[in-house]
Formats: sequence, structure tokens, C-alpha cells
Amino acid sequence: MAKYYCEYCGTVRSSVSSLTASSCHRHPLGTNKGRHKLYEGSEKAKYTCKYCGTQRSSISCLTLSSCHRHPNGTNKGKHSPAL
Ligand SMILES: [Zn+2]
Ligand SMILES: [Zn+2]
Repeated sequence: MAKYYCEYCGTVRSSVSSLTASSCHRHPLGTNKGRHKLYEGSEKAKYTCKYCGTQRSSISCLTLSSCHRHPNGTNKGKHSPAL
């Protein structure tokens, strides 16, 4: 079965349409201020933040914490997985 991940929170769905149908609790504009966004990278053993290089074993772990090198300012946003 295919797996599609949200780039913001790591939610997994079996289709893109079901993933992007629901709102995202870690959306950059605020909790549930927008929908899940498809993570277009491949499935990995470790996910690396594209801003600071922090590594976590899942997208949901990575996006849980604030990024000290976020483009909007220190800790103004969450880590974001590189593709
Ligand atoms: Zn999400
Ligand atoms: Zn980061």
C-alpha cells in the first residue's frame, strides 16, 4: 500500500486525496489553519531538517520542535524535512 506523508506533521494516508482533505494540526499558519501538505520526498530511515540539519527518525518527530534556523527567525517555525 502506498504511503503519503504530510510535510508539516507526518500524518500518513494511503492516498493524496485523503491526506489533503483534512486540516493539519501543525500547519505553518497555525493549528488547523490549513490542510496537510504532501511530502514529495522519498521514505527515509532518517529525516533531516532542510534549515538546520537536525535529524529525526520520522517526520512527526522532526516537525514537533521549533527550528533555531527557521527562515522566519529563530524558533519562529518548525523543522521542515528535506526531500
Ligand atoms: Zn499535516
Ligand atoms: Zn531545523
